[in-house]
Amino acid sequence: MPSPTLIDFHCHLDLYPDHAAAIAECEREHVFTLAVTTTPKAWTRNLELTKSTKHVRAALGLHPQLVGKRAAEIDLWEELLPQTRYVGEVGLDASPRFYRSFEAQKEVFQRVLQACARAGDKVLTIHSVRTAKVVLDMLETHLPARQGTAVMHWFTGSQSEARRAADLGCYFSVNNEMLANPKHAALVQGLPIDRLLTETDGPFTSCDNRPAKPSDVRFAIRQLTQLLKLSETEVADLLVVNLKRLLSTRG
Ligand code: MN
Repeated sequence: MPSPTLIDFHCHLDLYPDHAAAIAECEREHVFTLAVTTTPKAWTRNLELTKSTKHVRAALGLHPQLVGKRAAEIDLWEELLPQTRYVGEVGLDASPRFYRSFEAQKEVFQRVLQACARAGDKVLTIHSVRTAKVVLDMLETHLPARQGTAVMHWFTGSQSEARRAADLGCYFSVNNEMLANPKHAALVQGLPIDRLLTETDGPFTSCDNRPAKPSDVRFAIRQLTQLLKLSETEVADLLVVNLKRLLSTRG
């Protein structure tokens, strides 16, 4: 992997008006970007566009907020898994709008984790809204650290849940909006710095009143400099070291 300058470990590039242009911009600006997907039906197109990119990788996902209507797509998801090392967006969401599908979400997530454990060496970006405890219980049971690596995306559990996630070997991708929230910034401050990555979750977050794009992780880096008492260069270098360690881990 050529050394990136910035890292966006969770971005929905296929939801921008011009998917190909969004990828080209990451390449031009040397932003390592994990292009997450929300349904396995989007996979083939995402793979096609990222097959020969230096900095963009596509992740195979089935978003927990879509499981209510798309649980059956887990069969297709499993079929496609051998095509990639990267998985996401997957996880659980117990917020009121999605709680009705919570049982189905757990079934789907369990199949995701078990398939990843069988395959070995997968890297997952995980959604855990109001479900940190259950997500961690399921990770502990179905995907022990030697069998794969979980990156908690926009993690908003408690301090003790964050410690537990770190003990289980998880990384954490943090974004601008998360760091603007004092409670969540305090949580990030307590994380082991060798497990930190940045993300935008674009286009679902905003910067300067427009949808965030991968290079906007600069704003998260600026906030991290204050939290960690490091310079921008030190934070950027730390993130690249973390990314390289994460991606070089085998099983
Ligand atoms: Mn997302």
